[in-house]
Amino acid sequence: MLYTVNIDHKYLNIGGEAMKEKIRKSNEEWRTELPEDVFHLTREKGTEPPFSGKYYYHKEKGVYVCTSCGSALFSSTDKYDSGSGWPSFVSPIEEDALDQASDDSYGMNRVEVRCNSCDAHLGHVFEDGPQPTGLRYCINSGVLDFKKE
Ligand SMILES: [Zn+2]
Repeated sequence: MLYTVNIDHKYLNIGGEAMKEKIRKSNEEWRTELPEDVFHLTREKGTEPPFSGKYYYHKEKGVYVCTSCGSALFSSTDKYDSGSGWPSFVSPIEEDALDQASDDSYGMNRVEVRCNSCDAHLGHVFEDGPQPTGLRYCINSGVLDFKKE
């Protein structure tokens, strides 16, 4: 017996238009385009000192975008005061805005967060955030630009 299966095609875009176009540049290209501190944070997985970043105490309404490629990453509505010294968010602005990878550097087992468009290192995500997500996206201010609403 044959069954007719109705598939909703909006979920079948693998390899098609739903996939984000990645921006690929060599480290040498990024080095010439980005300020030295941003290059260090995004391409050498740097971490800015706590309480030093320009967006830690920032409370304006708007969207935080990637300094490297301009992609929207976080919304001010998802930002909260974690007390950590780094801008903290409970979720990305959209699920596919970020990419994740495991990071075992410095003897710690952490999950690295990257810009899904250009692979810039942004920070880490921890499972000690507030509800409803329970997540804390701990992000360097230096990898973000802010677009006021
Ligand atoms: Zn980016």
